Amino acid sequence: MDTRLKEFEKGHDSFKKVHFKESQERFKKLVKEGQNPKALFIGCSDSRIMPAMITGSDAGDLFIVRNIGNFVAPFKPDADFHATASAIEYAVSVLNISDIIVCGHSHCGAIAALYKEIKPSPENIHTIKWLELGAEAKKIALSTCENESKESLLRYTEKLSVVFQLENLLTYPAVKKGVENRTIFLHGWHYHIGHGEIEYYDDESFEFKALNEK
Ligand SMILES: [Zn+2]
Repeated sequence: MDTRLKEFEKGHDSFKKVHFKESQERFKKLVKEGQNPKALFIGCSDSRIMPAMITGSDAGDLFIVRNIGNFVAPFKPDADFHATASAIEYAVSVLNISDIIVCGHSHCGAIAALYKEIKPSPENIHTIKWLELGAEAKKIALSTCENESKESLLRYTEKLSVVFQLENLLTYPAVKKGVENRTIFLHGWHYHIGHGEIEYYDDESFEFKALNEK
């Protein structure tokens, strides 16, 4: 018997019997009325990050885009395929989402990879290119954390990268317009996997502070 992904089959079975049953009305309403999410969540693909769980949100609450390193490539109006850009456009222009969260996290493999020598091959060309979106954060972090431990350097780079991705968001015309008109609000978060805590970027003090003390 094929036992691959057996735990997910079991999990789905229990979802149907318990969670879906309990939330049936909510799901029906979401089908009838469509989605009206409260925020766009841009997070890392890392399996340890569970956006719904760490924000206590439910189906229909978060419009989510995930990629390696929770990076936002700057606006580039060309004929290429831009998955993250398309999700941003749809969230802002079609769903009229007014809050955008860029959520970085501790022990991020993408950020750690910025400090490794990676030999290009046909199996990693897209990853190497994508990691360029963290280069600016690495550069500043290296000059700021000269005498600090590797772990501090990595945590700092993860946080700084979130701030750079927020800046990249502003290169999208609809986002920029919304931020200027105060109809769109940007949020930079950093989630610590080991502590289960989210910190937010305070753009007045340029510091990350505990979200639950906001
Ligand atoms: Zn990550």
